[in-house]
Amino acid sequence: MNPFINLGIRHDIVNAISELGFENPTPIQEQSIPVLLTGSNDFVGLAQTGTGKTAAFGLPLLELLDFEVNHPQALVLCPTRELCLQITNDIKNYAKKMNNVNVVAVYGGASIQDQLRVIKRGVQIVVATPGRMLDIINRKAIDFSQVRFVVLDEADEMLNMGFQEDIDSILSTTPDEKKTWLFSATMPSEVRRIAKKYMTDPFELTMGEKNTGNVNIDHEYYVVRARDKYAAFKRIVDNNPEIFGIVFCRTKIETQEIAEALIKDGYNADSLHGDLSQQQRDKVMKRYRERSLQLLIATDVAARGIDVNDVTHVINYSLPDEIENYTHRSGRTARAGKTGVSIAIINSKELGKIRQIERTIGKKFVKGEIPTGFDVCEKQLFALVHKVHKVEVNESQIEQYIPRIMLEFAELTKEEVIKRFASLEFNRFLDYYKNAPDLNAPADDSRRDGERGERGARDAGGKSEYTRLFINLGSVDEFNRGDLLGYICNNSKISGRTVGKIDVKGVYSFFEVSNGDVDQVVNNFKGVEFKGREVRIEISGEGTSTTRTGGGERREGGYQRREGGGGFNRERSGGGERREGGFNRDRNKSAGGGGFRDFSGKPREERPERRRRF
Ligand code: AMP
Repeated sequence: MNPFINLGIRHDIVNAISELGFENPTPIQEQSIPVLLTGSNDFVGLAQTGTGKTAAFGLPLLELLDFEVNHPQALVLCPTRELCLQITNDIKNYAKKMNNVNVVAVYGGASIQDQLRVIKRGVQIVVATPGRMLDIINRKAIDFSQVRFVVLDEADEMLNMGFQEDIDSILSTTPDEKKTWLFSATMPSEVRRIAKKYMTDPFELTMGEKNTGNVNIDHEYYVVRARDKYAAFKRIVDNNPEIFGIVFCRTKIETQEIAEALIKDGYNADSLHGDLSQQQRDKVMKRYRERSLQLLIATDVAARGIDVNDVTHVINYSLPDEIENYTHRSGRTARAGKTGVSIAIINSKELGKIRQIERTIGKKFVKGEIPTGFDVCEKQLFALVHKVHKVEVNESQIEQYIPRIMLEFAELTKEEVIKRFASLEFNRFLDYYKNAPDLNAPADDSRRDGERGERGARDAGGKSEYTRLFINLGSVDEFNRGDLLGYICNNSKISGRTVGKIDVKGVYSFFEVSNGDVDQVVNNFKGVEFKGREVRIEISGEGTSTTRTGGGERREGGYQRREGGGGFNRERSGGGERREGGFNRDRNKSAGGGGFRDFSGKPREERPERRRRF
């Protein structure tokens, strides 16, 4: 028999969740569903995100509510719009084969009128973020007098975001007899207090140790000198060709700077922080979910509610201020039973913080060594070899070229051909890493501060009439190529004829202008703002210019490709030429002796409430 039936879930729900691929209950579902199905307990569940807790409370709600009537009977409060939409969507999916189940998502940043209209039509389950919920309550547009169950999901996050008072006000409009189910990844004293305040003798379920992270996560730390941090970070990324990661920074500024540095260095990365509009944020998240982005650089606040499965690595570029945030960060990987790695890049003075985190999560970190250049080369080489082995051959398309290709290789043995293909990429890695220094900080790192970091192997570059420029505007700002061309010409007072290729990305773009116009463009954009944001134009790389010549130009349309592994996952133009940044042009500014930009000392992102600090 289906194990969900054994837990007491009825057939039409089990059929629906089977279609979602739920064969066996997760541990939290197994333990909480029988308790919640009684409908007679308050409940506290200590569980990480990604453990299946939405179904743990969602399935019992579907069993317990009366769907023949159309008034609110359950209220689910959660911290973010993303989570709100996710929960709503999940519950609708579980109820796919039931009749007259009406669920509304109530969250800020979207039309309140639309939400009011759905509420007016009649709903049994309201999933809401606290701010918008309160707004609707204050308009007297909802009646919670018959609510039987309140779920506080990610309670620690809601408190962290300063929603305590809103939650108080919202709950005061619900009946005293209702049952409250609280879920939280961590149990700081604030959560403990609200559990006491709203519940009588709750059934408590702890999945693993209190405040303990997911057992499927391996925790690693790397000790580097502050000035080598960026180079070390890139090396860790390069050593994991299949990485699909979230990189946490402490401030918006650091987030943006790291993302921009990575983009310039040719990585598929973008940033997520509080300065983005909801629309920009949605677009970045869409690209990440679709894996067009390989690295998402985020602040703690912005990353709340991110529910992407299959994240392989969480990288703490900077450790968080509060220990609890480390648990939240690392919980973004190893979701739904998968494994994942959480990495902290620290300086030797931060070892104490690592020990504190170890005590909190009840798990030891493994000290990692920043891989040598040789290690990375080897890793990338075999990733490439593996990729060549697995590549899908488009027989019908390639067939016509085969005779000419064979002719070209006629003189070579199979071994020689293989060697040449492998060398095509490998030489680049070798070039890049041939002078790569050891980036692991010595035991006493203070005396080494004057040393140079990783040296960038500069590409001499070809002679070109065009220079490639970076601009911090892109499709999320509603620019297409034509719009951007007009915008550039208007602001910099140059003729459209001197603008070369335009490559519109998400939150940024690249465009080419003839070398003689570069200064004019850069100067005329000084002080220009777009929707209150300073527009920045930079030469893409140090003196980098691209050439318009060469028939191998493949940046447009179907030819543009994103490299998964083996090629350091950079986008590139055709003809084998790395478009920008790329691997053989390290933009690590420490090469010049000045050190990569030190991001420390910048203002920290505002947080509504301070939690336990190191
Ligand atoms: P949640 O913690 O509710 O966000 O769930 C994390 C992920 O696990 C989601 O993608 C769910 O669809 C998935 N999931 C939840 N329960 C199960 C289950 N019993 N079997 C398989 N996948 C599940």
